[in-house]
Amino acid sequence: MKLEYVRSLTDVKGLSEEEKRELEKVTEKYTFYSNNYYLSLINWEDPDDPIRKIIIPSTTELHGEGALDPSNESKFTPARGLEHKYGPTALILMSRACGGVCRFCFRKRIFMADNQDAIPDLSAAMNYLRDHKEINNVLLSGGDPLVLPTTYLKRILAQIYRMEHIKFVRIGTKIPVYNPYRILEDPSLSDLVSRFSKSERKLYIITDINHPRELTPQALSALNQLMKNGAILANQTPILKGINDSKDILIELFNKLTAVGIPPYYVFQCRPTVGNADFAIPIEKGYRMFEEAKAAVSGLAKRARFIISHTSGKVEVAALTDEYIIFKYHNAAHQENDSRVMIFRRNPEALWLDDYVEEVVSFSPLMEGSETSLYQHVDDTG
Ligand code: SF4
Repeated sequence: MKLEYVRSLTDVKGLSEEEKRELEKVTEKYTFYSNNYYLSLINWEDPDDPIRKIIIPSTTELHGEGALDPSNESKFTPARGLEHKYGPTALILMSRACGGVCRFCFRKRIFMADNQDAIPDLSAAMNYLRDHKEINNVLLSGGDPLVLPTTYLKRILAQIYRMEHIKFVRIGTKIPVYNPYRILEDPSLSDLVSRFSKSERKLYIITDINHPRELTPQALSALNQLMKNGAILANQTPILKGINDSKDILIELFNKLTAVGIPPYYVFQCRPTVGNADFAIPIEKGYRMFEEAKAAVSGLAKRARFIISHTSGKVEVAALTDEYIIFKYHNAAHQENDSRVMIFRRNPEALWLDDYVEEVVSFSPLMEGSETSLYQHVDDTG
């Protein structure tokens, strides 16, 4: 297939003229971008088609509350385009482009005209990495690093791999499903993967596959090519209303991913990003769905965790009782929260950690005497 980029809704054949006119208001605010391959996966007969929901704008994006930077990434940005929130890990926002623009993107700010976040100051970023020997791994994210020229990526990776203390690199990407031809038709990208994925230092590719229908034969070939060249793959996805918010879809996604060698890794609560409210489902509903799906899949797929990517860290939704919800820090921005367990009274409407206000108890198993009971349960007070 000859890949053609589609930058305007006027060129999307499946939409009616009326729909195009209506959606113009949305694209004036939030970028639309795709290609003929990905658009060909849409079933235009189905107005609720999940692939359509991933890529085609909706007027719902003009409503609802939210932040442009819901995880407050800017707070942890010591050099332009480099984030350092968790001790051993640094993240570099590599570009202001992806293979398409997901309508639920939590970094939609990077596609906005005046944003500088994803134009990294690479010399400052590399100096930061060199100076911070506690960093042992780097996540290249974005915008999608695989939209960049391979020669440029090679230069960056070579600089990073020259630092002895960096033991592995991850690349976050949706290119294998947005545009598998980027991988299939560039042999120099295969060379890059084998060059930087050696027996002693691996290159990880973290894919963003949200729905099993994205796993087409072309996508599977591209994913297999990355694996054949030595990359280790894992997948992350948010739970998204209308796209994959069903036990059966999650089971199918987890099973297919595991079968092809890409175990599910993080499953995220949809972040409260501006324009994304319509994609979010309540945390407790998502947790149940996630656990129901996990109950039906292999131990490999069960390694996935349901995570709220909060300003304070990655918080795992660990359990629900009739009255309480139990969270545990999977990655904490501040040491006092390492492995911290927090038990709150349930709130079935909650869409984000901050919606839980009645904390029963909080403690870090790593710190004796760290227990705080902020809210006294009525049974305890007699
Ligand atoms: S691939 Fe990731 S960064 Fe790119 S638009 Fe989609 S969610 Fe955003």
